[in-house]
Amino acid sequence: MLKHFLPSEYVKSVLHIKPEKLVKQGIKGIITDLDNTLVEWDRADATQDIMAWFKSMHDAGLQITIVSNNHIERVSHFCDPLGIPFICEARKPLKQAFHQAIATLGLPKDEIVMIGDQLLTDVLGANRVGLQTILVVPVASSDAPITKFNRAIERRIMARFKRKGLITWEE
Ligand SMILES: [Mg+2]
Repeated sequence: MLKHFLPSEYVKSVLHIKPEKLVKQGIKGIITDLDNTLVEWDRADATQDIMAWFKSMHDAGLQITIVSNNHIERVSHFCDPLGIPFICEARKPLKQAFHQAIATLGLPKDEIVMIGDQLLTDVLGANRVGLQTILVVPVASSDAPITKFNRAIERRIMARFKRKGLITWEE
């Protein structure tokens, strides 16, 4: 059961994920979470850094789609100016939105990576449908009230992974 929460990789920031490395791994599509993965959960718009990151991915031929549990106003406000497709109210870790995102990308599963900041939604959901996962440290140390409960469980799972040596930080 615990292995369903185990990410393939663990990095400090989405900005540390480089297109060249993904391309080398055979990745052609990215499904990413929004809140506390790309920007703080309470920041409405993309930052310059994130816009540059999106551009670097697109320039490398990687497709991106955002899958968020947040509501349409939040997600469309963020995505529409960038022209990035999204699925909102995704109810991660349920599988449906992941299947939908995979269909949107039109790629085989082994060419897609899921990026997110939560074990209980992003990593668990992606693992359930058989995607590779990259866990990032949340952008903000605060969370939406709904996330706080999940974080308490997450801390216990992470502590177990670290004890077992299953998670090592990037250098
Ligand atoms: Mg998140």
